[in-house]
Amino acid sequence: MDDNQNPIPENQPVFRPTSRPVYRRRRKQNGSDISATLQTVFSVALVMATLFTMWNPANLFSNQMLEQAFLAWQSNATPVASSGDQNAGVSTNIKRIGIISGHYSKDPPYDTGAVCTDGSGIKEVDVNYKVAYLVYQNLKADGYQVDLLQEFDPLITNYKGLLLLSIHSDTCEYIDNTFTGFKVAPSSVEQDAADSQRLANCLIARYATDTNLPYNANTISNDMRFYHAFNEIAPTTPAAIIETGFLNLDRDILVNHPDVVAKGITDGILCFINNETILQTTPTP
Ligand SMILES: [Zn+2]
Repeated sequence: MDDNQNPIPENQPVFRPTSRPVYRRRRKQNGSDISATLQTVFSVALVMATLFTMWNPANLFSNQMLEQAFLAWQSNATPVASSGDQNAGVSTNIKRIGIISGHYSKDPPYDTGAVCTDGSGIKEVDVNYKVAYLVYQNLKADGYQVDLLQEFDPLITNYKGLLLLSIHSDTCEYIDNTFTGFKVAPSSVEQDAADSQRLANCLIARYATDTNLPYNANTISNDMRFYHAFNEIAPTTPAAIIETGFLNLDRDILVNHPDVVAKGITDGILCFINNETILQTTPTP
């Protein structure tokens, strides 16, 4: 052969790392064995490291704590103690659910949100409050600690809980026949945005089933996507905002059947908390 730069005999199995062709050209036969051994050792080490990461006792412990906490709430028909009573730290926070009643304020300046100018006297803030209050009652009856919050409630700042949901309803103006249905936007600020997305998916699935309202993804606004509370709550709290329907075309269910609307929201929240399976039939926001 010519100058024989490659000493590896032909017809021999050779370890060939794909990313380092230069090394391969200079490697001797026994060198490739060492390299293969090293790679095996490294691979085993990597798998062990991954397993240790997945199974470390702290993770197991916190998951068990969460599981037990969830089971305790589910079996507890009475409202849990309020914060600071007998629970401390994280265990208090994870029992809480924040519900913002859209536009609601106890003190001036008052904000009505959308207003119907057809003589009906319907104001969005009132519609929202009825629904939010029913959701509050439903969840309290299920044993959760629920904070019914004003639109700009001081408690929203750094709010820590299982989740925070803001309840609004849409314009009373008639625009055209497509302005019907509900929509949900998840927080994109939360540290684990997948949680907020799952909250939104749960709400979409259960609300659609309970109310029969269509999902109206086309009218999701930046006011929803960049909702003020998303930036104000603790970054660990999953959050979303729901527009329950349009006060014009969906008025009947929003005004006359707030219990059905509230059931759809409650079921969506419980779907999220209980990690229920969702049959994904609607597009995610
Ligand atoms: Zn609103």
